Amino acid sequence: MFEWSEEHQMIRQAVRDFVDKEVRPHREELEHGDLAPYDILRKLYKTFGMDSMAAASFDRRIAREEAGDTGRPASDSDGEGGGGMTLLPIIELCKCSPGMVTAMGVSVGLASASIMSKGTIAQKKRWARDILTMDKIGAWAITEPNSGSDAFGSMQSTARIDGDEFVLSGSKTFITNGPYADTIIFICKLDEGNPPAERRVVQFVLDSGMPGLEQSKPLRKMGMHSSPTGMLFLDDVRVGKDRLLGESLDAYSGKVGRDASKATFTIERTGVAAMALGMIERCIELCVPYAKERVQFGQPIGNFQLIQLKLAKMEVARLNVENLVFRTLEMSAAGKALGLAEASAMKLYSAQAATEVALEAVQLFGGNGYMAEYEVEQLARDAKVLQIYAGTDEIQVTHIAKAMLA
Ligand SMILES: Cc1cc2nc3c(=O)[nH]c(=O)nc-3n(C[C@H](O)[C@H](O)[C@H](O)COP(=O)(O)OP(=O)(O)OC[C@H]3O[C@@H](n4cnc5c(N)ncnc54)[C@H](O)[C@@H]3O)c2cc1C
Repeated sequence: MFEWSEEHQMIRQAVRDFVDKEVRPHREELEHGDLAPYDILRKLYKTFGMDSMAAASFDRRIAREEAGDTGRPASDSDGEGGGGMTLLPIIELCKCSPGMVTAMGVSVGLASASIMSKGTIAQKKRWARDILTMDKIGAWAITEPNSGSDAFGSMQSTARIDGDEFVLSGSKTFITNGPYADTIIFICKLDEGNPPAERRVVQFVLDSGMPGLEQSKPLRKMGMHSSPTGMLFLDDVRVGKDRLLGESLDAYSGKVGRDASKATFTIERTGVAAMALGMIERCIELCVPYAKERVQFGQPIGNFQLIQLKLAKMEVARLNVENLVFRTLEMSAAGKALGLAEASAMKLYSAQAATEVALEAVQLFGGNGYMAEYEVEQLARDAKVLQIYAGTDEIQVTHIAKAMLA
């Protein structure tokens, strides 16, 4: 694949129209944290039939699983990223409000994907379907105040076995959708009296409002304001094994729990490339006319070679990131999954490219670039987090190099 198909172009235009009509008029409220993004996201799902497609895809998959077939046809995207209908809304929404994509991606791409990959059929029906259709909002909680990049090694949240129940304790931070999530994937270590380094990593599904679970207000942050980020506090939350993903601890022997979380890392890293593409495209859309219109020294600034260099570098970044996105689409269509190292390489490059392009866009706009009215300052603030969440740049480097040296 080297260009968007006609069908893609149609989807793209339709999403663009939706963004202009339903998102752009609310940009101020979304970007000041006055409006949570969920109702607009639900409208997006309804408008494009994404809710009914997700429901139908889910029902087909469950029917297959109930019939004993756990394989999955290549064309049947169960909300795990990849298809054009998934990536184009990401790209177009990112041109206006990237935080909305973060909120949507974590819910549909991470929370539901965890349940779909590790849960029992009963758990999938109970929690994943509603998240996939956007009826409910999911959060995926691994990061803690003292455990970020070293997510497993430093993890302090625990599950203790008490008779037929588990008792969950700990704090999570920087959790996307944390303040408003209906369904939370809580990742912790099983305390069986063994040393923390040897403990199994286990995952539970929690519902908002459970006794002992507190969801904080949104945290103030640098950008991505339309994506509410918060803390979770668990104080002896008692759950039955119906909330343990997989419903049996046998499912977590060896490194299985860690590997399940790593599969989730791959999904989120490919989504970041699509986000980066949307932000880069928007920067170019804003910068090219500005370079033609803004006159200094009696001529448009686009005549200056230093400005041309900025534009040219933006275009190189756009082409490269677009090609990475095309590769994701091709692999998804062929039923192939990206490996962790390749997803890391894609994420590292795309995140750095988006941040660099957005900062250069601010520079190209001069003083206007620093003013909220001209949009590029928001893109620069929003792009920066692509280098931090879903694994920092430095962690992507370690994953890529580890695979090369293995
Ligand atoms: C807006 C936002 C949304 C988020 N959403 C979620 C979410 O929904 N769920 C969730 O669980 N988490 C979420 N996170 C957390 C995010 O994944 C972590 O912030 C990230 O993994 C980095 O962890 P940390 O912040 O603890 O930084 P640290 O791990 O403390 O890193 C600090 C610095 O040290 C560097 N560093 C660390 N280890 C190494 C190493 N081995 N080699 C070289 N350098 C190293 C890092 O790269 C970084 O530069 C979110 C974060 C943000 C900002």
